Amino acid sequence: MEYKKNDLLTVTIEDMGHDGEGIGKVDGYTVFVKDAVIGDTVSAKIMKAKKNYGYARLMEILEPSADRVEPLCPYARQCGGCQIQALSYEKQLEYKENKIRNNLMRIGGFTSEELPMEPIIGMDDPFHYRNKAQFPVGYDKEGNLITGFYAGRTHSIISNRRCYLGVEINEKILDIVLKHMEQYQVTAYDENTGKGLVRHVLIRYGFQSKEIMVCLVVNGNHIPQVGKLVEELRKIDGMTSITLNVNRERTNVILGREIKLLWGPPYITDTIGNVKYQISPLSFYQVNPVQTEKLYGKALEFAGLTGNETVWDIYCGIGTISLFLAQKAKQVYGVEIVPAAIEDARRNAALNNICNAEFYVGKAEEVLPAYYEEYAKNHPGENARADVIVVDPPRKGCEESVLKTMVRMKPERIVYVSCDSATLARDLKWLCENGYEITRVVGCDMFPETVHVETVVGLQRKDT
Ligand code: SAH
Repeated sequence: MEYKKNDLLTVTIEDMGHDGEGIGKVDGYTVFVKDAVIGDTVSAKIMKAKKNYGYARLMEILEPSADRVEPLCPYARQCGGCQIQALSYEKQLEYKENKIRNNLMRIGGFTSEELPMEPIIGMDDPFHYRNKAQFPVGYDKEGNLITGFYAGRTHSIISNRRCYLGVEINEKILDIVLKHMEQYQVTAYDENTGKGLVRHVLIRYGFQSKEIMVCLVVNGNHIPQVGKLVEELRKIDGMTSITLNVNRERTNVILGREIKLLWGPPYITDTIGNVKYQISPLSFYQVNPVQTEKLYGKALEFAGLTGNETVWDIYCGIGTISLFLAQKAKQVYGVEIVPAAIEDARRNAALNNICNAEFYVGKAEEVLPAYYEEYAKNHPGENARADVIVVDPPRKGCEESVLKTMVRMKPERIVYVSCDSATLARDLKWLCENGYEITRVVGCDMFPETVHVETVVGLQRKDT
């Protein structure tokens, strides 16, 4: 059966796709329905029809799924932040675990016996977990100042100061900032014209330290009556750092490069496990500290360190994993492309009195092969070795030259941390064709209510 645009059909949702969209079949025709969850029977209208499948709009839920829940947030459906708030948390975890398993089997070609999967690590409370929020500031249709989140795939702001993924204090901070803007006629930035002042409010919260950072991103270099604003913000318990970020570029990039200090130090401090980190507005830092600790705990466990190992942490960011590992290894080497992140990594190593971590700036696909060649040149007859290699690449996974060099360094164990199980599957296939086998796999839910999931995989060299 073939359908066309505007056809109305009744469909039962049997699966969910990569973006959380419901998937069902009517007479062999596949329909994708955003906002419908597994188990729903819905009426949906075809918006875009292809020969064998179509995209449909959810019109009415005829029979709700047993796993459907009322979203906490009234904007859950429009907002681009969450995709699967309408699905019970238990079912969200099942969906994520299946997503990992399916990718590893379909793309990686592994059988389920080759995948020793442990139960996915979920959260006790899947809300209020984010330690960072960036709220765009703008106007509604009536010209009122608003702040909130972008609607899915657009740049129109949904007015909402109470995001359930973030910490509660965000709302109070936003109230103070917007009240100040109203009182002193401070304008909000307009993306279309490039005019107006305040672009974003960035808030960070140290879950362990309880320190708060507010950074106001402006299209200029000052805010009128800023002293009065600082005075109000300082009344909040835990307020530690208030800064201004100058961004005069007409881009989608939220932060500019220049930071002006308004009050306090230019950073907050927080800890993951027993490692302390200084976090500035421009630093990368994991947004879910509770799960990050569990995730890195797993990476550490899979690394199986005894204290004598040489470990490489490739794609190390600010060295979060490196510093975790350094406490249990002889020597850790980190590789990262962003120079500012490496500056943070070095500073954080010093802050924690960690002397056995060294960092290289550059592309992993250049740094690692170059190190290997250089080593061979300087040590005739010998090759660079590693006992354990940890990788935590961006979504696109590892370049083959990185995988090749890793294998040449003959690590006993490889720990692969991934935010995209499709590219993970591709890379694992390569590693398993080149001397390694998978010993452990575990998912970790760093982003409840969204479709994203992290995976940690332990690999062992076969000829040992
Ligand atoms: N493990 C880190 C972050 C990993 S995110 C942490 O937990 O803090 C992936 C990192 O890879 C990012 O910091 C990104 O800047 C870096 N990156 C992206 N492409 C890279 C490349 N080609 N070579 C090295 N690092 C890269």
